[in-house]
Parts: sequence; structure tokens; C-alpha cells
Amino acid sequence: MPTLNVLIIGAGLGGLTLAQSLRSAGIEFQIFERDKSPWDRPQGYRLHLDGDAINSAREVLTPELCAVFNATSQRTAPYTTILKPDLSVVKRLFTDDDLGKDVWPPHEGEPEHFNVDRATLRQILLAGVEDRIQFGKRLVRYEEHAGGVVAYFEDGTKAEGDVLVGADGIRSTVREQRAPHAETMNSGVIAIYGRIPVQAAKDIVPAETLGDIFTVAMDERKVFLGMGSVQFPVPPDQAGKIANVELKQRDDYLVSIVGGRPEFFPKDLPALRIASSSQLREIALETIAQWPEHAARMLRHGDPTSFFLVEMYTSIPCSLDAPVNVTLLGDAIHGMTPTLGRGANVAMRDGVTLGRALKRAAMGATALQDALASYENAMLSYGFDVVREAALTGQQRMAQNPLPI
Ligand SMILES: Cc1cc2nc3c(=O)[nH]c(=O)nc-3n(C[C@H](O)[C@H](O)[C@H](O)COP(=O)(O)OP(=O)(O)OC[C@H]3O[C@@H](n4cnc5c(N)ncnc54)[C@H](O)[C@@H]3O)c2cc1C
Repeated sequence: MPTLNVLIIGAGLGGLTLAQSLRSAGIEFQIFERDKSPWDRPQGYRLHLDGDAINSAREVLTPELCAVFNATSQRTAPYTTILKPDLSVVKRLFTDDDLGKDVWPPHEGEPEHFNVDRATLRQILLAGVEDRIQFGKRLVRYEEHAGGVVAYFEDGTKAEGDVLVGADGIRSTVREQRAPHAETMNSGVIAIYGRIPVQAAKDIVPAETLGDIFTVAMDERKVFLGMGSVQFPVPPDQAGKIANVELKQRDDYLVSIVGGRPEFFPKDLPALRIASSSQLREIALETIAQWPEHAARMLRHGDPTSFFLVEMYTSIPCSLDAPVNVTLLGDAIHGMTPTLGRGANVAMRDGVTLGRALKRAAMGATALQDALASYENAMLSYGFDVVREAALTGQQRMAQNPLPI
């Protein structure tokens, strides 16, 4: 039986989902991550997961890890709530989870939507594959040769494998070499993210904000305040014990996002880039200073160390030349603005779809190049559909620059 050795560049949610999929099939893999540890950079807070990510996790995780995933995920009602700037409810928009009918078992009953803590999810996906990850390894280039690929790292080392997967995020080094024509663009939207303790927010925001997927209030400038809660059914440090995983403790929180075009912020972009967390909280408050005072009252409860700036970029849909032994997944090829809360979902679906294709190749049921090509055909179609939808929603809700195509 043919065997495969897979080099995964990037230990984000997509790369780790692929790793878990290969682990479950007994396929050899190594992961190379440029960060020195999983805790090197702030990775953000709440993530909305829909059928794509939930099914992916269920497919690749061991039953014990799946139990930890379930125990740390808030089930939300399938709605996005729209508010006025005074935080009164205008309407609730239904969000289906009617995704990937061809790849996932049909779901009965209410659509499934989870709000999870990103760091907790990443820790769960890291469990059982930590010994295959090398941290502090920044890929600088690769070389393809007959029947394989060599990855070269900044520290002068190299690694050889049969397949190389660029799971290295929206500024992907692998993409630059594999698809130099593939471009990303600035969406023209920035946002200040922070964390508010649920206890402090609950008397200020409507009840829907703590139970629905996401809530957004916006004004006539398309400046918005987005909010999404993470309420752990079981505290992470307790839930981790189910599978002997040490999870960092977190209290329930509400993520707050004040965003819009940079001209509506009281400081220019260079100043925002160097502002401290507590300064960013003040800038967020000033940005919505003309709103009725509820929103400001809520933001003032924000953890002053938790605020950070995000400049939103999106991929521009494109095609790829037929693969030989290098492919891409997640934000590395179809990064998107977070308007739909779907980027991680699609990255995890890629991890499963590529894992399935590599299993077929490892069993000798398909030639490797055909397996990679069938993965890329599917991934480019569903991935760029979501990029386009996120860009359209971004145009309507936050004056995002339109995609050129
Ligand atoms: C503020 C914000 C909120 C979001 N909210 C949601 C949400 O609610 N729901 C949702 O589904 N999505 C959301 N997203 C999108 C989601 O975060 C991304 O789509 C997802 O993280 C993509 O996963 P990935 O594995 O492809 O890339 P990443 O998570 O970016 O991981 C890439 C990894 O590659 C590593 N790397 C980069 N370059 C190299 C190199 N040269 N060598 C080695 N390693 C390298 C990086 O350090 C990183 O660990 C949000 C995004 C943002 C910014």
C-alpha cells in the first residue's frame, strides 16, 4: 500500500483539523508553525461555528475530545439580532446551517450553531498531535521534485515529504509560490475587538444578545457595534479533564467589536496601530460617542487589557493551476472578512475534505495528483462562494470595498 508523508505549514484551525484527520487515518504528517508556542500571539476571542466546523470536529476528533468540544461550546439560537444604536431590537434574522449537504450527514431539528472560545478550540485541536508540531519554524520557500517536495525554513533547516499543504493564513508564503497570481485586498474596514464579562453586560444588552449567534447595531455611517457571547456549559479547565487535556480557564464573556471605515475613527490608522489596549477602548468609545449611552456603558465594562485592532482583508477569487504535490487550505487561499463568521468553518471543512482525499491516495484508490485536484475543485467552489457572500454582506453592513470581480 502506498504511504504518504504530509508537510503541513501552519498550526491554525484549518491545519490542525487536517492533522487530526490524518492522525485518525494513521497517515504520516509533520506540522511546522512559525510562532514559538500556541500562546505567542493573541488569536482573537469568540468564534461562531456552523454545520461545517461542527461536523468537521465530530469527524476528526476522538470521542473523548469531541466530548470536551461539546462541553465547551455554547449552543446559540439560529439568529443574528439587529439592534438600533440605543440597543433596542429591530429584528432577528434566521440563519440556516444548510451547508455541505453532499459532505455531511443531514441534520434534523433546529439548525446547529455554536459560539466557542477560539483559544479553547485550538487547544482541543492540538491535543494528540502536539508531538508532531515544530514551533518556531517559518517556511520561506519550497522546491518540488520528482515525487516529492522539500520545505525550507528561516532557521536554515529543511524537511522532505510527498505533499506540502499551505495552511499558513491570509499572508501565505506557500500561496505566493504556488499561485503568484492569487491576490488579497484591503476591505477598507477596521475594527476594535474587546472582551466584556457577561455578568457586567447582561443588564445592559437585550437578552437575545446572550442567546443568539451574533448581534449587530449600526448607524447611518455604517459604523457598527457587534457582540457575540461565549458562555461555557462546563468551565474549560473542568471540561478538559474528560480527555486529560489541560485547558486554560476562561470566564464567560461577550466579545465587542466597534468597526467601520477608518475615517470614522477619531485617530488615524498609524496612531491606531500603536495604541495600547486601554487606549483602543477609549477610541472605540469615542467612535460611537453620539450613540445613546447604553453601548458606551457596556464598553466601559470591557477588560482594559483585552482590546486590539483588526484590519480586515479578503482574498480575491481566482483559479489555480492543476496541483502536483503542493496545495492550499483555509485563509491561505480563501480568506474573507468576518461578516458572516464563516472563515474558520470553511478552513475546517477544507481540513476534512483534503484529509479524505489524502486517505484515498494513501490507500492507492486514487493517484495523489487526482486526489489533490478533486479537493481543489471542491474547495475553490465552496470557498470562493463564501468569500463573495461575505464581501456582499460587508458592503451592505459596513461599507466594505467591493471585490473587483
Ligand atoms: C476578528 C476575527 C473574527 C473572526 N470570527 C470568525 C467567526 O466567528 N467564525 C469563523 O468561522 N471565522 C471567523 N474568523 C475567520 C477565522 O479566524 C479564519 O478564517 C481562520 O482562523 C482561518 O484558519 P486558517 O487555519 O486557515 O488560518 P490561521 O488561523 O490564520 O492560521 C495560520 C497559521 O499559519 C502560521 N503561519 C503563517 N505563516 C507561516 C509560515 N511562513 N511558516 C509557518 N507557519 C506560518 C500562523 O502563525 C498561523 O498559526 C474571524 C477572523 C477575525 C480576524
